[in-house]
Amino acid sequence: MKPYSKSLASVSSVASPTPGLNKTILALTWGKTKEFLSYKFRRSGKLVVEVPAYCSSQASAACGHTHSDNRVCQSDFVCQSCDQRDPADHNAAAVIAKRGVRCKV
Ligand SMILES: [Zn+2]
Repeated sequence: MKPYSKSLASVSSVASPTPGLNKTILALTWGKTKEFLSYKFRRSGKLVVEVPAYCSSQASAACGHTHSDNRVCQSDFVCQSCDQRDPADHNAAAVIAKRGVRCKV
């Protein structure tokens, strides 16, 4: 056995001693990231708005129609109501931007 193989095995065996620990660590990391970004943005006079991302990949930025069928594939978005067509990531970013504006009006 190579020396580093044993080290990796030891690390992986202690990586998650309790169920949900990884999720908790990730949540803490995300919390620290939000805290850091909020601090930096506010310090430079910028507005910070936390926006719920729920269903942003299935909602139309044009009309608001939300349905899983709007995602024709991983990369493309086609609204089944108004026929808006966009790259899926672009549409989701527009949905989140609109939600952010709505939160602070
Ligand atoms: Zn639509």
